[in-house]
Amino acid sequence: MTATSPLTPAWLPAPDDVDALDPAIWAAGVARTDAGELAVQGVPASALAAEFGTPLIVLDEDDFRARARAFREGFDTAFASLCGGADVYFAGKSMLTLSTARWAAEEGLRVDTASGGELAIALRAGVDPAHIGLHGNNKSEAELLAALDAGVGRIIVDSVDELEHLAALAAEHGHIAPVMLRLTPGVHAHTHDFIATAHEDQKFGLSLAPSAQDADGNVAGRAPAAVAVALALASESVHLLGVHCHIGSQIFEADGFGLAAARVLEFLDHARAEHGVELAELDLGGGHGIAYTAADEPRPAAEIAAALADDVQKTVERLGMDCPRISLEPGRAISGPAGLTLYTVGVTKTVDVDAPGGGTAPRRYVAVDGGMSDNPRPVLYDADYTAALASRTSEAEPVLSRVVGKHCESGDILVRDVHLPADVRRGDLLAVPATGAYTHVMASNYNALTRPAVVAVRGGSARVIVRRETMDDLFAREADPAPGRPADQTPTPQESA
Ligand code: PLP
Repeated sequence: MTATSPLTPAWLPAPDDVDALDPAIWAAGVARTDAGELAVQGVPASALAAEFGTPLIVLDEDDFRARARAFREGFDTAFASLCGGADVYFAGKSMLTLSTARWAAEEGLRVDTASGGELAIALRAGVDPAHIGLHGNNKSEAELLAALDAGVGRIIVDSVDELEHLAALAAEHGHIAPVMLRLTPGVHAHTHDFIATAHEDQKFGLSLAPSAQDADGNVAGRAPAAVAVALALASESVHLLGVHCHIGSQIFEADGFGLAAARVLEFLDHARAEHGVELAELDLGGGHGIAYTAADEPRPAAEIAAALADDVQKTVERLGMDCPRISLEPGRAISGPAGLTLYTVGVTKTVDVDAPGGGTAPRRYVAVDGGMSDNPRPVLYDADYTAALASRTSEAEPVLSRVVGKHCESGDILVRDVHLPADVRRGDLLAVPATGAYTHVMASNYNALTRPAVVAVRGGSARVIVRRETMDDLFAREADPAPGRPADQTPTPQESA
């Protein structure tokens, strides 16, 4: 069971130094101390675990802020001469807390929300309502009204049905709804590839392709997007700001964004010809890729911005139109690399499994005190992560290992394949990097596990920004607790440890 195990996936290199922390994957403030411990801005993993318990999501606040600034400055610079700069909305869905919303706003970003709950967090964090966008393919009346009442800067409308509903609601309540139309440009991007199609088989957005159907607000022979523009322009309770598209996630190249922008700009050109209006804004969504493992090679925000600005410039020149104000919605590229999750190792064991070339090979399992409830991405999306021994370094041979959680599911895998020192054992701390996005916000109480705390480290000190859940929290929604057993007296495993 060495680094040359036949079970090693092709993309996973044998480590030169199993204790090394690849700066492309780990937050800028992460380094080993002289004693060999992993530390965030100088705060050692053992100190974090002792003070806050594990599992623990740790955010390097400066790293988060630096990435936010890099997007704002990179896109502002690239689009300055073309359309006076760009507006960057932090996609709250990746990691929304009162603190992260504030950090984004303080770094000059706006905030994109995807539900009434996210909207409430952004508002409570003090984000200027004019700098908040509300998304969602099926927003409730309460969510739409909350957005209108708060005076959000944009409501991103997803269908003709929703546009009609929103226009009526706004008229009834004396509002003018600021609307962006979410279009499906027929471009789907993932990592290095993108596919372009005419028709979309997904729940989001208004198609640019003419509809064959006369149903649900569609007009046969007309593109739903064109129908929506005409409706929005005709409605006195709607202010049509512009259009939006979002083409996927973990995108490393600008080509997909460029093609989507070209298709949407062509659509805007047709709308100009038909209605004589130039729509002022174009949002190109999020999806900018990050390094979860050594196989991922993200490009800096400024590079993506420059390539995209080039593409957009060519398209607007070809069409002879003014460039609309560009906006974007990066989420994971800001919050993801800023975070790591600290776990405590429990059971380790090695099992023999069938090897691809015949025979068997050993696979080492390292079980930790969290799992799919604090990071469901490996289970949901087959997402790959890496991990490192955090509480010490080791001279032991690196062995191919699988980091699993403590849930009653054989699929409860956190890191499918990683080389860890052979002597990783009970009580060690393990760190999984790039977990600042889509972990805390997707966490569940599966198997009645309490959700981890989120801690922010800045200036060499750590503070809780979201406290760990307790057993009390688990019982808090139970309407019928067992008689004579006050639910609120049950200690958490951390408290009783
Ligand atoms: N904008 C929209 C409309 C999205 O649906 C998403 C993610 O699903 C994002 C932005 C953020 O994507 P990412 O976190 O990959 O940048």
